[in-house]
Amino acid sequence: MNGTSLKLTIELVPSTSWWKSLRAKMPKDEWDAIRKSAYARFGYRCAICNSKGRMHCHEVWEFDDARHVQKLKDFIALCEMCHYVKHIGLASVKASEGELDYNEVVKHFLKVNSCDMRAFEKHRDDAFSRWQECSSHEWRVDAGAYEKLRSQMLDKKQHRLFEESL
Ligand SMILES: [Zn+2]
Ligand SMILES: [Zn+2]
Repeated sequence: MNGTSLKLTIELVPSTSWWKSLRAKMPKDEWDAIRKSAYARFGYRCAICNSKGRMHCHEVWEFDDARHVQKLKDFIALCEMCHYVKHIGLASVKASEGELDYNEVVKHFLKVNSCDMRAFEKHRDDAFSRWQECSSHEWRVDAGAYEKLRSQMLDKKQHRLFEESL
């Protein structure tokens, strides 16, 4: 969806009520399993800047602009700051509520991408206008990665239940 060479990009996705309501209903152990498998896969390091510490789980979406389908492609491990860059809209809301220093988020972007403020502003503005354009369409959701993980987990669970019943 963006033709940028930046390592850490802003990913504003059209509001995915499907995913939000799914997450809200998802049992905690299911989300924990998704989360933890992502952290383990990336060696408990941020998939983008490689830093350690408390990890966040980020959903990666792929957009088919022609068919207006958004596909849940992957779950990746990110550090808190990279995650705030991804969701910079949320970061600025948190900053306005005094929960976060927006400048720290921008600084992280500049550091990881080794770029200047102008590059950040351009990328942010592009991301927002792309988001506006995206939000003017209805998107169909393809649960891709989630369905795959879920069936793997169910398999494991069934396997365990089976073993326990022996
Ligand atoms: Zn990071
Ligand atoms: Zn995220």
